[in-house]
Amino acid sequence: MDLNRFTPFRPYLPEPRFLWPEGKRCAVMLCFDVDGETTALSEDLELKNRVTTMSQCAYGPRVGVPRLLGLLDHLEVPATFFIPTWIVENHPRMAEAVAAAGHEIGAHGHLHEKLATLSPEEEEAVLVKSLGIFEAQLGRKPIGYRAPWFEINPGTTDLLVKYGFSYNASMMNDDAPFQHENGLVEIPGQWMLEDWEQFAFNADPAWGFIPEDCDKVFRLWWREFEAMRDYGCCFVLTLHPWLSGRPSRVQLLERLVSGIMETDDAWIATGSQIADWVRSYPEVRREIDFDAKGAKA
Ligand SMILES: [Zn+2]
Repeated sequence: MDLNRFTPFRPYLPEPRFLWPEGKRCAVMLCFDVDGETTALSEDLELKNRVTTMSQCAYGPRVGVPRLLGLLDHLEVPATFFIPTWIVENHPRMAEAVAAAGHEIGAHGHLHEKLATLSPEEEEAVLVKSLGIFEAQLGRKPIGYRAPWFEINPGTTDLLVKYGFSYNASMMNDDAPFQHENGLVEIPGQWMLEDWEQFAFNADPAWGFIPEDCDKVFRLWWREFEAMRDYGCCFVLTLHPWLSGRPSRVQLLERLVSGIMETDDAWIATGSQIADWVRSYPEVRREIDFDAKGAKA
C-alpha cells in the first residue's frame, strides 16, 4: 500500500487514518440494530403487558425492516443488521428476508441484555444461546458483534475470539478500525451517529426526547460524514428500524446515502468486509501522532 498517495482536501489535515479499497477516502458502515420489543423487555419483562409500548417497538421488525430493505435494494448498498435472537425467534420472516437480501447479520444478545448486569458465565451463556438460535433459524453463524447499548465488559473481546468472531462494533475510542491484542477487529461507533438520541420517544416508561426534525438530523450526520471523509475515517451509522423505519426517516436515509454515493469516494461496506480489509492490510492504519503539525495554509 502506498501511504503517501493521498492528498488531503485541506492543507492542515494530517495523513488519513486509513487507506480504503480502490482509493476511497472513507468507509461507511450502515448498521440496523433490530431491537424491536427487546427494547422494552430488556428493561422490564413486565412491560410485555404494556401493549402500546410493545407495539411501538414491534413496528421496527414488522414495518420498518421491510421498508428499509426496499430502500437498500433500490440503492444497491449492503448493510449490517444486528439482531437480538428473541427477535429472530419472534419475527422469523423478517430475519429470513434480511438474510435473503444478502445483508450481513450480526449478534446483539438474545433479549438485548445489558452486559454489565451479567456475570462472565451468564454473558457466555447468552452468547452461546444466541449463536444456537442463529444456526437453527437461519443456518448461519454471525462473525460480527454489537453489544446492546454499545457497552461491553472487560472479558467480552476474549469471549468473542473464543467463539470465532471476526469483529466487535461496540467501542468508541477511535474513528477508524483497529485490532485488539487478541486479533479481534474493532469497528468503533459514536452516539452522534445514532438515531435513538434524535428520534426516540415513549411517554411511559419515559424514553428519549422530543423527536428531531429530519432536516436537522440530515445536517448533523452529513457534516460528520464530510469531515470523516476528510480525515479518512470509518463512518458508522446506527439506526433502529422502530425509529428509522418511519416514513420521513426512511427518506432521510435515502437522502443521506444517495449523497454519500454521489461523492463517489466512500466505500459502503458491511462489518465483515471492513474487518477483512483491516486484517489483510494492517499497515493502512495510522496511529495518531501527538507531534503532528498541520501544514500552514
Ligand atoms: Zn440494540
